[in-house]
Amino acid sequence: MLARVSLLKTISRYRPSVFALDQVNHSHTQVNMDKFSLPERFLGTEKSVWVEYIQLALQHKPLNLGQGFPDFHAPENVTKALAAAATSDNPLLNQYTRGFGHPRLVNILGKLYSKILNRDLNPNTEILVTAGAYEALFASIQGHTGPGDEWIVIEPFFDCYEPMIRAAGGTPRFIALKPNKTSGNLTSGDWVLDNKELEGLFNEKTKGIIVNTPHNPTGKVFTQQELQMIADLAKKWNTLVISDEVYEWLVYKPYQHIRMATLPGMYERTITIGSAGKTFSVTGWKIGWAYGPANLLYNLQVVHQNTVYTCATTLEEAIAIGFEQEIARFGQPDCYFQSLANDLLPKRDFMASFLREVGMNPTVPEGGYFMIANWSALADKVQLSEEKDPYKDYKFTKWMTKNVGIQGIPPSAFYSSEHKHLGEENVRYCFIKRDENLQEAAEILRKWKARQ
Ligand code: PMP
Ligand code: GLN
Repeated sequence: MLARVSLLKTISRYRPSVFALDQVNHSHTQVNMDKFSLPERFLGTEKSVWVEYIQLALQHKPLNLGQGFPDFHAPENVTKALAAAATSDNPLLNQYTRGFGHPRLVNILGKLYSKILNRDLNPNTEILVTAGAYEALFASIQGHTGPGDEWIVIEPFFDCYEPMIRAAGGTPRFIALKPNKTSGNLTSGDWVLDNKELEGLFNEKTKGIIVNTPHNPTGKVFTQQELQMIADLAKKWNTLVISDEVYEWLVYKPYQHIRMATLPGMYERTITIGSAGKTFSVTGWKIGWAYGPANLLYNLQVVHQNTVYTCATTLEEAIAIGFEQEIARFGQPDCYFQSLANDLLPKRDFMASFLREVGMNPTVPEGGYFMIANWSALADKVQLSEEKDPYKDYKFTKWMTKNVGIQGIPPSAFYSSEHKHLGEENVRYCFIKRDENLQEAAEILRKWKARQ
């Protein structure tokens, strides 16, 4: 009690301006507060599924299959490279590095993507290192959006696309991927766009389209034909493509990742985004990049130089070393780009089988590390009325976190407000987890299913 009283006293001591105004004139206090409300361009973006669900996980300590991150160690070559960089004889490795990307990292990224794209990328003008793929998305959208510009967004979409477009003064236009069948086993390839509907969204105001392949949350790996259809429309209407390819190495056989920038005539209008967090299982490092033609990347550099300016040198050095080592064993089974996907495949199949066993209908992903599953057949086993959220998938995931001890993410978070109902019967689970944790997830669900 005493501690609380003295804490309150301390707080009041640190609020001098408000208290001073209170004594002088009450109306001033009111005006002052209004002045600090959220700027209009952020209104409607206050809610974040990550903020809410990470808090929920901390509170209830469920088996966490929500936010996407591996629960196992990152590969030793990169973590050791980080330790070595931090304790290196070279004192400059702990100081600021080049703003648009540490030279060693942009050089190796340039080498890698030049080989993959079969064109010579200039590492200084065609690659930008960013604070995670998030900042690459932010700089791309901020740097290429003016009032009245429209962006086409494919639903379900990684949730930050919409607020980023709105905060930049643009208007998102949505089109949903929909399963092309209503019963039987689904794969992410069954989730498709309606070509005519997509065509109808392009117009003179369209600045670009955001494509995410492999896709979060469905796991869809867009086919050559699907990408070509999008590319043809982008060329016809002279638009950009932001290609979010953070899961570029996580594709399951026999599917193959196709990069938008490799389609004829598309490099010139495509900004491709990658993430070291996904590539090396180090999501906490928050290093990403964008690559594309110098004239398009220039706008991103301008945004980056005045917001983040430069990213962590030691992390960039370690990631560069990781890339150098993986490129040396590229195509071999021990290359992390192949071995991680090989390790994830049985985890994916195990998750699909236990979700089916308990009565859910999963969509088996062709890529990425998420699986969505329709839970509607189990609706009588959850007390949705105990949760206050407006959307059924929020109610389901919250109830499951609190009462069953397993957390997933509500997919309606990945839809615009007018289409949220399309996600409501699904839940998203993450399967980049240790086998024992996936076994435990299966056990938790089996026991819940057996309860009367
Ligand atoms: N895009 C997609 C599709 C994602 O799933 C994520 C989540 N990590 C990001 C971008 C952001 O990546 P990062 O953690 O590198 O910022
Ligand atoms: N990309 C990860 C996911 O979809 C993490 C997102 C986040 O932390 N904001 O789960």
